[in-house]
Amino acid sequence: MKYTLLAALAAAVCVGLVEIAAQNPAGAGADGRGAGQRAPGGRLAPGQIQPRPGDGREPEFPPPNIREYKPTSTLVVPAHPVPRAKFPVVDFHGHPPALVSQKPLAEVVESMTPLNLQVMVDANATTGDRLRQALDVLGASTYKERMVIFTGLDLRNVQPGAGRRLAQQLEADVNAGAVGVGEIMKSFGLYITKADGSRLHLDDPELDLVWEKAADLRVPVFIHVADPQEFFQPLDYHNERWLELALYPDRRYQDRSRFPDFETLMAERDRLIARHPRTTWVLAHLGWHANDLARLGKLFDANPNLYSEVGAVLYDIGRQPRTAHEFFVKYQDRLLFGKDSYQPNEYPYYWRVFETNDEYFDYYRDYHAFWKLYGIGLPDQVLRKLYFENAMKIVPKLPKTGFPKS
Ligand SMILES: [Zn+2]
Repeated sequence: MKYTLLAALAAAVCVGLVEIAAQNPAGAGADGRGAGQRAPGGRLAPGQIQPRPGDGREPEFPPPNIREYKPTSTLVVPAHPVPRAKFPVVDFHGHPPALVSQKPLAEVVESMTPLNLQVMVDANATTGDRLRQALDVLGASTYKERMVIFTGLDLRNVQPGAGRRLAQQLEADVNAGAVGVGEIMKSFGLYITKADGSRLHLDDPELDLVWEKAADLRVPVFIHVADPQEFFQPLDYHNERWLELALYPDRRYQDRSRFPDFETLMAERDRLIARHPRTTWVLAHLGWHANDLARLGKLFDANPNLYSEVGAVLYDIGRQPRTAHEFFVKYQDRLLFGKDSYQPNEYPYYWRVFETNDEYFDYYRDYHAFWKLYGIGLPDQVLRKLYFENAMKIVPKLPKTGFPKS
């Protein structure tokens, strides 16, 4: 007993020593050099320990910066690229060019075919006359079975009466041929203001009529709330999106005088969804919880009216193959395929992550992720739901041509 206590004390002292060493690294000169593993401020990143005896040794050559260091992997394992999805796919999060004539429509659809993308949802939130023009272009084409169009909502300058007006417009657009609402952009919540100058909260009661109208019309509401959590965090060397934030000033939401924090937006979003249980909600980008799938799971558990799509968060799905596999199987009835920006050559990365068990392969965008991806090997039944069955369930007017019958 006594011995155990002594051993524990010794261990505690050792831990203390390591911490002291971490603050005063051997070999670190007064100018801080030698602290190569340390972030500014001298803090060790979690999981880092003092290096072994070469401690204090400096690289003989100037170290590369994070954009330069792209080591070629020497790992030799089976690789199964997937240029074409195993089943026909509905891209729930499409941003094709504006459908002002046959040419852009034909170009998009022709590039969809080799990928096995059967239907794209045009989630450009087109309303009014422009919506009717796009519907006319689509209606006059041979691609009526390959694209559907969602309408949008102009949420600027909301004041009393705006909800009724927007609900009427929504009804008119759906009667004209729109089959959903969205994408409602992140500006809603982040910075759009009401007529009185205050920020329009996601759960502002003035808009209740609009969401209820969507439920009456049986059209889903596809909404993008906030942005990755890291965009709201300090831009330091602990931020996983340092490079992206350094590249794009308009993705920095650290200024609390201009933007709410991440959790404020999540709380407003969760209240909005809970208050309209008849409305079918689709959260873009896995609700920005792809890095914490259990959190999204709780939201699914609490709200049977909630769905989500996987656009632009492949980097998080592909770095947790076991957790993601379990999650996609458990919530197979709630998940939709979506891609966001239309780059045909990027879709095969998604197919490979969903369909294979490949290991440690490249992602396409270095400012999203400096790590590699793994396949999550989904069974056919789950793939079919993710790729098209769930989309058909929540968008009854989606074309059925080109999809396998169950
Ligand atoms: Zn989008």
